[in-house]
Amino acid sequence: MSYLDEPLEKVEIEKLESGIIYCASPNAVDKISSYLDSKNIDNTTYYAAMNPLDKNNNYETWMKNETKIIVATSALGMGIDKPDVSWIIHTCISTSITELFQKSGRAGRNGKPAKIICCFAMMDRFVIQCIIRHKNIKDCDKFDTFDIHTTLKLSQMWKVIAWHLNICTCRNSLLMNNFDEAFNYSQCQNHCNVKPKYHISDNLVQINVQDVVYKLHSTLSNWDKSGRQINRSFNTLTLILKGSRQKNIFKYHDDKTMIYGLLKHWDKRWVMYLLAKLLADKYLQETQMLSPYRGYISYIVSGSSAMNLTLVSRNYYIQLPKEVIPDPVKSKSKSKSKSKSNSKSKLALKKRPKKAVLRKKLPKN
Ligand SMILES: [Zn+2]
Repeated sequence: MSYLDEPLEKVEIEKLESGIIYCASPNAVDKISSYLDSKNIDNTTYYAAMNPLDKNNNYETWMKNETKIIVATSALGMGIDKPDVSWIIHTCISTSITELFQKSGRAGRNGKPAKIICCFAMMDRFVIQCIIRHKNIKDCDKFDTFDIHTTLKLSQMWKVIAWHLNICTCRNSLLMNNFDEAFNYSQCQNHCNVKPKYHISDNLVQINVQDVVYKLHSTLSNWDKSGRQINRSFNTLTLILKGSRQKNIFKYHDDKTMIYGLLKHWDKRWVMYLLAKLLADKYLQETQMLSPYRGYISYIVSGSSAMNLTLVSRNYYIQLPKEVIPDPVKSKSKSKSKSKSNSKSKLALKKRPKKAVLRKKLPKN
């Protein structure tokens, strides 16, 4: 629960202005409310399954500002018009960009500046997947197949994850673009947490990663020697693309796949961002499988849009900071000078641990 301390500090909780802490489930509401109690922060709670009398009382207490903070699920939504809400903390990712936008829109209705803080962890997706598939978190252990509506909703969730992972595109422009609203970076006036330098388009570059997308599809559509389809978790795919030297990568011969080390120069976050974007665009899909050892586990498989790779166009663009892509001229001269120094200190290098050399090769971000 201590992950909440920083957001609480940022919204200047001691000022006790009216705010909302959004949670994914009633269970999370109760836990976070108890955590606030333990810190002597007055709060009330709200969720759909609550006793109607308590629900109404809590709501009125908050509306009248007798208690400034309400910890709630998205049930606290429709029709809420409390002009003095000055901050919102999202403790879990939202199910869609639309939901994130609507919930965030409940702050700053009096025209004064408001703060929106979104907490993010990749693990959040399992809670949201559960809510999307079963409507409630209690049935998480149930296994089901994904119908077309679920697939669509899950791709919306991946859009939110990509929004969180993308730290080079103005957050406000991404939100507005989702509703087909034109929004210039300069309109944001650095009101989002993306670095000011990335609000200047010269510092960004559009790159075509068609080769990576095509090779990912080919790899995930293949079968290994024992006749099993090659499926890897989101984390493992990230490690393979980064060219990780972890034991398991070699154990399962992932270093022999055509995607191994394809994005070794990219920061891990950008690799995760690309995968999240491909999941949002349905080029990839995260699915469940029954493991004899660990219950249900999630794997990434090729998605329905992968057909586009052969039928329509293989182009796939993403926007990244310029420095993510190594300058071919510079990296060539770097490797030349490196090979020179290597020949001079061959003996010294022999004793140097391999990891340190590899780390040196990675560009600074
Ligand atoms: Zn911005």
